[in-house]
Amino acid sequence: MKPTDPLAEHFRIDSIHKKALSRLRIETIEDLLLHLPKRYEDIANIQSVGGLSLGEDAVVYGQIGGLKSRKAWKSRRPIAEGWVEDGSARMKVMWFNQPYLAKMLTNGMYVKLSGKVTGSEGKLYLANPEVEKLDSLPIDRHDSIFKDTEKLDETLYPVYPETKGVTSKWFFHTVKKCFDKGILDELSDPIPEAILKKYNLPELTVALQWIHTPKKAEHTESARKRFAFEEVFYIQTQKARERATVESAACYQFTTDGVEEFISRFPFTLTGSQQSAIDAILEDFNGKHAMSRLLEGDVGSGKTAVAATTAYAVATSRPDAGKDWGNLQVAYMAPTEILAKQHFESFIEYFHHLPIQVGLITGSGCMKFPSKVDPTKPTKISKAQLLKWVKNGEIPILIGTHALIYKSVEFKHLAHVIIDEQHRFGTNQRKALAKKDARMPHLLSMTATPIPRTLALTVYGDLDITLLEEMPSGRKPIITDIVTPEKQKDMYEHVRSQLDEGRQAYVICPRIDEPDPDKATALRLKSVKAEAKRLKETEFKEYRIGILHGKMTPKEKDDVMKQFADHEIDVLVATSVVEVGVNVPNATNIIIEGAERFGLSQLHQLRGRVIRGTHQPYCFAVTDSKSDKTKERLKALTSAKNGFELAEYDLAFRGSGELYGAKQSGLTDLGMEALKNIKLVEAARTEAYALVESDPELEQHPRIRERLLSVEESLHME
Ligand code: ADP
Ligand code: MG
Repeated sequence: MKPTDPLAEHFRIDSIHKKALSRLRIETIEDLLLHLPKRYEDIANIQSVGGLSLGEDAVVYGQIGGLKSRKAWKSRRPIAEGWVEDGSARMKVMWFNQPYLAKMLTNGMYVKLSGKVTGSEGKLYLANPEVEKLDSLPIDRHDSIFKDTEKLDETLYPVYPETKGVTSKWFFHTVKKCFDKGILDELSDPIPEAILKKYNLPELTVALQWIHTPKKAEHTESARKRFAFEEVFYIQTQKARERATVESAACYQFTTDGVEEFISRFPFTLTGSQQSAIDAILEDFNGKHAMSRLLEGDVGSGKTAVAATTAYAVATSRPDAGKDWGNLQVAYMAPTEILAKQHFESFIEYFHHLPIQVGLITGSGCMKFPSKVDPTKPTKISKAQLLKWVKNGEIPILIGTHALIYKSVEFKHLAHVIIDEQHRFGTNQRKALAKKDARMPHLLSMTATPIPRTLALTVYGDLDITLLEEMPSGRKPIITDIVTPEKQKDMYEHVRSQLDEGRQAYVICPRIDEPDPDKATALRLKSVKAEAKRLKETEFKEYRIGILHGKMTPKEKDDVMKQFADHEIDVLVATSVVEVGVNVPNATNIIIEGAERFGLSQLHQLRGRVIRGTHQPYCFAVTDSKSDKTKERLKALTSAKNGFELAEYDLAFRGSGELYGAKQSGLTDLGMEALKNIKLVEAARTEAYALVESDPELEQHPRIRERLLSVEESLHME
């Protein structure tokens, strides 16, 4: 047996398994070994239904049956009920106010139930337990998956991630068979021994045994740490190599004059953070290799002013002092059309007094400022015309959406790329933008996405990070309220009084349409369409209501946003699409329905929509959750200083898989877990950079090289 052998060569794989395995991208023995358990359960902790007593918080595994739903006799409250049976006994289960649960579950299904034992002696039942569906019971006491192991204290069994079609039991046994057939002798560790020693990490074969067939809880921890380190290490190595590629390429190097004057025209003075960010960037422009910098700042911290200043510095500089005609060029890419247009408009404000032309390219057309006819206004132009002027260098600043990186866009001297909220802008895209231009453009990546430091260090491992921590002065701090059902009346009253004063409001809902009746949890979530209708009929009768969501076309969205910006709409009911940077200063209220569904940093991002103006902003985080933990978590919104602090809360308190910005990162659950450990992330980073410095092509580390290819694939997969 070899690690690269297809699984099917050694095991009988039926068609259901085959499908499941291919969904999990498991083809070879090695893939199987590296499909790691996500957690462990301890057999010793499992309670038997027969042994439960009144008042106990119970976790039981069993089969469910006798499902039906009805209304309570007096209160008419909907009740779903059934029973759970685990071989030791059968116990009644009741869910109140969740009649759909009975439809979601089916008789005979295997489940894990966690809830309180309620009722009275002799008439016990499990009340409102949380339900987790299982493919099979993880163990049954008579046929333990550990029956072929000797020691009694081996009570941990692995639970593998999402295993529809293959059970944890199957994984456990199959891995064990591989071990028995001597697969461990065939493996060599890609991580250099010195690194493992330094950080006290187990060697690969040891770690595999510890993680799949643990004998002690501490062994599982140690093994997980090793694999987490390994994952972050590969990403960091990849990033270190990208950084090395950028640093070895030629770039435009220039110093800049006149920036102070440009800044002095701003209708405000820069914050200290803005000034130091600008200084750092100007210094990079004069450096030997192209800049790679990430500018992180909360919504409203003034990133655009920084971007404009750097664009000015570039657009007033020449390639190689006087030798070539035309100035250096800037490409500024935004994630959506609305935002590209908004940046275009801000740039017109910043540049209207200068002989610097600004172009806009989006899927729905092109514009240029200034217009020949009226030099105070922008004008529509054809794409062909715009591309021509960009190619010959007449237009030094081009703003746009993804349309910017289409093949047809060519620059004469592209020196600087600014990108807004693009998590996946890799070195290849950066090179592609420069195209025939041999030189590597400077890169300024900007984000308002509050992510924890460890995640930033990992996914932006190739970038220098600058934080805009200060907010411009004179802003009124937002008043945030956690709204429980009994406080909703006051909330609507308050928002109405705000609307009467001429302000506007957002209402954010978790869903677009009427909820999908199959999903029990979905039923309690408000949808944009239904909520807009309800508000029109009840709370906001006299006001103009509009809707906005991701399924609308760019034109429809644009139209609605324009109406909202022009105050033809008072209340905009939307999904979280408004999250991305739309600026309507008169909108100072935001109601967020189902707030418990969002991460704190995402909530923070959402409320950032209403802190643009001079009026007092308000945020209402509405939740009907009864959990104290949830309410506690939401309270952090009222105490945290900035988005980054909230992101750290998210990392600490939520399942890291739900962490904002995590989905885009390409990290596995284990990698995400590693982010809770700053020491581990820093160690992986240090070692990765050292490795690439000593062995840039990884010639002495072919196994790592191989791995990087798959890391790159998963990171840049759209
Ligand atoms: P971001 O892109 O970081 O969300 P913007 O650059 O759009 O923020 O700035 C938000 C608003 O604050 C803009 O109206 C801008 O003119 C203004 N602004 C930027 N910097 C300052 C400052 N130092 N003092 C006062 N207002 C500022
Ligand atoms: Mg912005």
